[in-house]
Amino acid sequence: MYDVIVVGGRCAGAATALLLARQGHKVLIVDQASFPSDVKLSTHLVWHAGVDLLQKWGVLDALHATKCPPLTAFSLDMGELILRGCPPGSQMGEALAPRRIVMDQVLLDAALAAGAQLHQGVTFEDVIKDGDRVIGIRGRQQDGTTFTAQAKLVVGADGSHSRVARTVSSDDYNVSPKEAGAYNTYAYFSGVKLDGVEFFSRPERMFYAWQTHDDKVIVGIIQPGHAPRVERADVEAQFYSELDTWVPSLAARVRAGQREEAWLGAAIGTFCRQASGPGWALVGDAGLTMDPISAAGITNALRDADTLSDLVHAGLSGQSSLDEALAGYQAKRDAVSVPLLQFAQEMAKLAPPTEDVIKLFVALAGNQVQTDRYFGVFGQTVTPGEFFGPDNMAQLFTQAV
Ligand SMILES: Cc1cc2nc3c(=O)[nH]c(=O)nc-3n(C[C@H](O)[C@H](O)[C@H](O)COP(=O)(O)OP(=O)(O)OC[C@H]3O[C@@H](n4cnc5c(N)ncnc54)[C@H](O)[C@@H]3O)c2cc1C
Repeated sequence: MYDVIVVGGRCAGAATALLLARQGHKVLIVDQASFPSDVKLSTHLVWHAGVDLLQKWGVLDALHATKCPPLTAFSLDMGELILRGCPPGSQMGEALAPRRIVMDQVLLDAALAAGAQLHQGVTFEDVIKDGDRVIGIRGRQQDGTTFTAQAKLVVGADGSHSRVARTVSSDDYNVSPKEAGAYNTYAYFSGVKLDGVEFFSRPERMFYAWQTHDDKVIVGIIQPGHAPRVERADVEAQFYSELDTWVPSLAARVRAGQREEAWLGAAIGTFCRQASGPGWALVGDAGLTMDPISAAGITNALRDADTLSDLVHAGLSGQSSLDEALAGYQAKRDAVSVPLLQFAQEMAKLAPPTEDVIKLFVALAGNQVQTDRYFGVFGQTVTPGEFFGPDNMAQLFTQAV
């Protein structure tokens, strides 16, 4: 009998398990993967708010020791105008883009060191219930045998296609199909010189590049999800054609380097799901999946893990009942994540800038403090409400006069 079973052992699940195990709870992680294990689709940028959480939990040093370069300079090039800055209000003042095989393992190792147990190679199939309350899980091991375990709480950290969410019939809302989002195509290169994290906004396109482990950089293009798909064999030619046309300065640097890994691409549907119910909770992508144009999923997952583990600890340590403790989880998650999800959904349309947007960027161009605050919306150190709210807009445009 466990206090908590966490299904999924990556950034959301391993972080939740780590925080609960450190509070003295008996935690089991199950995952169908065998670790160390990579994630196929992710450009794995962890923004400032996420890096600060890794520091708060004492795992950032382990990540730095893997020689993942800190990312401290950010630029957004809009053709006529370039904004440069760094999100304010972050303790560590950096983002990171660690390979998932490295970062997920750092979190998992920390969870195991804190006393959590791991059963890998177990595919979760169903919850075990007592009435309407979830009291455990049933899964299948790699040798085909059945695996069962019981707990006071089952946490689904099993990603956007969460089977835990399906089996507990978690309601969804703010649902948006992948065609309404962005299509992301990227590859890893060596020998490409970058000036920090670089974004290039162009009509119906966004290009980006940042450094990761092993002196490699990720370079990608984001296009509307409804745009016609390119045949696999033509992806590279199409990418260079786009880059040459729209951002020749980056094209020259990418052409001077070498592609090291295969092209990857995806568009995903986005949604929020009911965050908890009797004996269960969802964390990370299982509970809320945002368009990757925001590169926010990992930071969100870490923040959810922090929020959820505090509430679960309150429920398990007798400060309140578990149900009472979890009752506020969805509201807490959504207060931060829904405005970001809506902001990402707007960005993912890659619509040409309106007059108001152009005025905003012109005003920002002369104002470093506000430019930093704009980057802070991405770094998740400034909320969309704080930045785009009427008070800040009035202040920005007054300063611009
Ligand atoms: C193209 C693309 C680019 C992205 N780029 C970024 C980025 O730059 N920055 C960023 O922050 N986010 C990015 N994201 C999003 C990010 O990858 C996710 O938000 C993040 O992986 C969510 O982590 P998680 O732990 O919730 O779930 P996941 O990483 O999906 O992990 C889920 C785990 O659950 C396990 N699991 C699933 N089903 C079962 C089952 N039935 N039984 C047992 N185990 C199971 C899986 O094996 C896996 O280990 C991107 C996403 C895409 C698609």
